[in-house]
Amino acid sequence: MGYIEPAPIKDKSNPFESMMSRFNIAAEVLGLDEQVYNVLKSPSKQVSVSLPITMDDGSIQVFEGHRVIHSNILGPSKGGVRYAMDVHLDEVKALAAWMTWKCAVVDIPYGGAKGGIKCNPRQMSAGEIERLTRAYTQAMSGVFGPDRDIPAPDMGTGPREMAWLMDEYSRSMGTTVNAVVTGKPLVLGGSLGRVEATGRGVMVSALAAMEKLKINPYHASIAVQGFGNVGSFAALLLEERGCTVVSISDISGAYYNEKGIDIKKAIEYRDNNNGTLEGYTGATLMDKPEELLTLEVDVLVPAAVEDVIHLGNVDQIKAKLIVEGANGPTSAEADKVINEKGIMAVPDILANAGGVTVSYFEWVQNRLGYKWTRERVNRRSDRIMKDAFDKVYNASQKYDIPMRIAAYVVAIEKVAETYKFRGGF
Ligand code: NAD
Repeated sequence: MGYIEPAPIKDKSNPFESMMSRFNIAAEVLGLDEQVYNVLKSPSKQVSVSLPITMDDGSIQVFEGHRVIHSNILGPSKGGVRYAMDVHLDEVKALAAWMTWKCAVVDIPYGGAKGGIKCNPRQMSAGEIERLTRAYTQAMSGVFGPDRDIPAPDMGTGPREMAWLMDEYSRSMGTTVNAVVTGKPLVLGGSLGRVEATGRGVMVSALAAMEKLKINPYHASIAVQGFGNVGSFAALLLEERGCTVVSISDISGAYYNEKGIDIKKAIEYRDNNNGTLEGYTGATLMDKPEELLTLEVDVLVPAAVEDVIHLGNVDQIKAKLIVEGANGPTSAEADKVINEKGIMAVPDILANAGGVTVSYFEWVQNRLGYKWTRERVNRRSDRIMKDAFDKVYNASQKYDIPMRIAAYVVAIEKVAETYKFRGGF
């Protein structure tokens, strides 16, 4: 049975293509029925729109917008909206499929979707971005909906855009519908705990994996690549649980301190230094930033960008455990070497799913009309992450496959089984 990729991408090292190749292996492991396989590979809906916007100088510019719903088998579809110049339909299709598997692996009742507008938000005024966001929302008013399709922030968008989206959708409905979108500002119904949710999920996954590998957190050394939202919270929470974070990095370079870096102080430094670690003196600046990846540590957390572990460096990786905070940090070709070396890799669709889990909680709270405490959010997301880890670990044992393929097996099995019960035409 040949897998036909829903989003053919030309660039060979593209992480989404890598993701699809793993999906293919998992489908083989499961012996997935070819007809179901064909259903799961095809996006269920694709909408493309042209958005004419009056710019500040009075000219009219036409922007291209997309929304792809890959699957709504498990429930309403969920996925971010990105504003970037390289947005194109094929990529949006692949990212939508990725969301289907991510939601399924943590067992939240959502399908997968993704949207995007081809634009450069850095070169647009706030007014222009607001008009574009409202036009996109109007154009997608038949697609979006709290029971149909729920957007969220992604690259180039944040709480500000989600607030405009919620407002525009609510105006067209004649009533406030805050559950139509997640990632909103707290005052508009955003959830406590969302900011740290992804890093927190990385921490839960790392501790669960350490337990399986018999690595004592109090004796564990950790290197974290990327010191933004995901990396800094993962580092902080792992440090709070007794681990020693010996190396951190961001776009300014990688920093090493054998005795452990004081993460709280590093975060304070970053926050008072234009968001970067440049000039940080609590650790030594390493000669080459990529050396962080090949340090002799127990746990490596790539939490920056995609494709950082590849055939060129995978041989030199010495960590016993990799926990993927970033999306797509390991190329598909590097997987084989990681497995041969006996390194456990907790894959992105599991390890960084804490974010979408708390987005789901935001939607639940909006629908309840009731705000949960941070403690409740954390407790429930920790439980979901731990349950998902256990399920994936058990599948890896059952089929004798790596954790990455096991995560896809769990996800595909769930969507396929639900599809069979629901039936089709
Ligand atoms: P962010 O922009 O807050 O932080 C990114 C960090 O990586 C910054 O510290 C930046 O300086 C650093 N960085 C960039 N290029 C680097 C490089 N080449 N080497 C080392 N560091 C580099 O982004 P984020 O929200 O923390 O997201 C990080 C990754 O996690 C992305 O892959 C994102 O898709 C993924 N992710 C994020 C969330 C979330 O909730 N924020 C959820 C799921 C997945």
